[in-house]
Amino acid sequence: MYVGAHVSTRGSYLNAAKTAISIGATAFQYFPMNPRSLVTKAVNAKDTSACSVLCKEQGIVSIGHAPYALNPAVDEPEREVMVKLLKNGLDIVNACGSVGLVVHFGKYAGKDPLQGYKNIIQCLNSATEDYTGASFILLENQAGEGAQLGLTMEEMVQVRLLCNHPEKIGFCLDTCHAFASRLWQGTDWRELESKGTKLDYLPHLKAVHLNDSVYSYGSRRDRHANIGAGHIGVASFQTMLASPYLQGIPVVLETSSGPDGTHRQEISFVNSLLERK
Ligand SMILES: [Zn+2]
Repeated sequence: MYVGAHVSTRGSYLNAAKTAISIGATAFQYFPMNPRSLVTKAVNAKDTSACSVLCKEQGIVSIGHAPYALNPAVDEPEREVMVKLLKNGLDIVNACGSVGLVVHFGKYAGKDPLQGYKNIIQCLNSATEDYTGASFILLENQAGEGAQLGLTMEEMVQVRLLCNHPEKIGFCLDTCHAFASRLWQGTDWRELESKGTKLDYLPHLKAVHLNDSVYSYGSRRDRHANIGAGHIGVASFQTMLASPYLQGIPVVLETSSGPDGTHRQEISFVNSLLERK
C-alpha cells in the first residue's frame, strides 16, 4: 500500500516529492496550482519531469488536488474557466507522473439539481475531449456541507458513465466526507465493499483521502481529525485499509501535522495498522 500525506510544493513539484520521501511517505498529494485562486499555471517541464523521474525511481505515487473553487457544476458562462483549469491541472499532474487530479464533485446553487449533474458532465466532457494523458480526473465525494450533490456512490458512478470519456474518470474516496454524508458508517466496510463492487464504484477507485472525522456520523460537516482521534476510530480504518481495493493506490492523509510539523508519525501509525492486521 502507498501511504502518505498532503505536502506543500514550496515552489516546485520536485520539492513536494522530496518532502514526501523525507517523512517516510510512499504517496503524497500536492496542489498543482494555487489552491485559492482560479488562475492557470504555466507548466515548468523541467520541474514536472524531475518530479516524475524521482517518484518512479523511489517507487512512490502521487495525486494533485484541484483548487477549492474549481466547481464543475456551475452554469455557463462560468464553466469556461473551470474547463480551462481542469485541462491545466490534468496537464500538470500528467507531466508529474501522478495518478490523477482530485476534483470535488461540485456544488450547484440553482433550483434544479438535475441541471447541476448535467453541468458536471458537460464540464468533464469539455475538459477531457482532447486529453490523451495517463492521469485521471478523480471525482471526490462530498461531506454534504452546503452541498446536495456528490454524497453517494450511485451519483458518482452515473455521472462517470454518462460522460463521453468515462475511461478518463476515476474516484477519490474521502473517508471523513463519506462518514459525514452517511456513505460509510465506519463499522460497515464489508457492506460498502460489496455495494461499491456491484455499482462499479470501487473498481474505479484510484485514491483515498484518509481522514478521521471531528463530528459524528451523518453530521454533514467537513472537519478532518487525525486517525484514531475522531468518530470513525482505529478499528474501522483497520478493516478498510485491509481491503484489496486500497492496495496499489495512494492513501493520503489530509489531517493536521504532528509535533514535528510533518505527518511522519501519523504515516507510520497508519502503516502499523496494516501490519497488525
Ligand atoms: Zn479530501
